[in-house]
This record gives sequence, C-alpha cells and structure tokens, in this order.
Amino acid sequence: MSSSLFDSIRMKPTRSSAAKEAPKCEHPGCTEPGAHKAPKGRNFEGQYLLLCIKHVQEYNKSFNYFNGMDDDKVRAYQKDSLTGHRPTWNMGVEAKAVESGVYVDTLEILKKAARSRTARVRATVSASADPKRPVVGNAARKAFETMGLDETSDKAAIRTKYKELVKRLHPDANAGDRSNEARMMAVIEAYNYFKTTGFV
Ligand SMILES: [Zn+2]
Repeated sequence: MSSSLFDSIRMKPTRSSAAKEAPKCEHPGCTEPGAHKAPKGRNFEGQYLLLCIKHVQEYNKSFNYFNGMDDDKVRAYQKDSLTGHRPTWNMGVEAKAVESGVYVDTLEILKKAARSRTARVRATVSASADPKRPVVGNAARKAFETMGLDETSDKAAIRTKYKELVKRLHPDANAGDRSNEARMMAVIEAYNYFKTTGFV
C-alpha cells in the first residue's frame, strides 16, 4: 500500500539519539539537513520523519492515499476500479512540483468525506421501497449530479461512468497534478453512496 520511497524510509532504523547535531534527512543516502517534518501516517500518529525539502516533496506526493479510509471503502475502490490503477498513487510520471514543504492532509480530507457520506446514507437509506431500484431521494439526486449522470441511469451506466471519471481524474492521468483530487473524492463518495443504497 505504499511506494518504494515510503518503504525504504520506513525500513531505515531510527537514528541514534547520540547524534546531537542538526538531524540529516532520513531518506537513505541523503545528506541534506532534515528540516521538514512528514507524518508517518496511520498507526504512527504523532511520529514524523525528518526530510530535506526535496524528499519531503516526494514523500507528500507518494503519501498513502488510503490512509484513514475504512476497509470497505478501500475494497470497493479496488474492486470497482478495473482500469488497472493501483491502490496508491503511482508516481511513475514526472510529477508537477509541489508547493515547498506543504503537507497535504489527505487523512483529514478523507475523514471528513466519510463522515458526511455516513450522515447522508443514514438520512435516506430507509426511504427505498423497491429493493431492486431504490427511490431517488435528494442524496441520490446529488450523487447523480456529482457524477454527471441522469437520474434514470442504470447499474451499468453508473459503473461505466464511475470508471471513466476515476480514470480521468486520477493523478496518474494528470502528470501527478492533484488539483482534481477533491472532484475525484466527490465521485468516489457518490459511487459509494450508490453501492450502499443499492443503486449499483
Ligand atoms: Zn533528503
């Protein structure tokens, strides 16, 4: 679930506390000063890597996209994304330069998205009378709108559109540019809503 950069950083033993001078970048082989803190991620809350500017940027770009997502969501994403993309951002292409040292808090963004989705599902899931085709309520209407679909779209149409959107909005398809990330998250949320409520 992580890039080779992430793995190589994680496997490196913790630097001895005897080294009192300015800490060096923890990226293997790097001798630059580690002036930038990068969160280690899930199960390592409050722990940071110290990285130089170049490596903190690489790290941010490869930071595990699914940190904070619940397992069902990750499974749904993997199962339904048949376009061949992997569960983490694969930065095989030369990514656009990230703002200096800015850490994108993907974890918080995902948590918020999950909370709002849960609230919407609770509000409308009981409204569906037909087990095969749930009633289109406000939440469903919004989800159709988010995906640019007509309200009468069937399962196949929803799935096809979802794959198309994920493929188009994925950073891999945009030279690593993450500006479509919010839009992509909204699409994933909408699709998960359809799954949860039986539209797909
Ligand atoms: Zn470095």
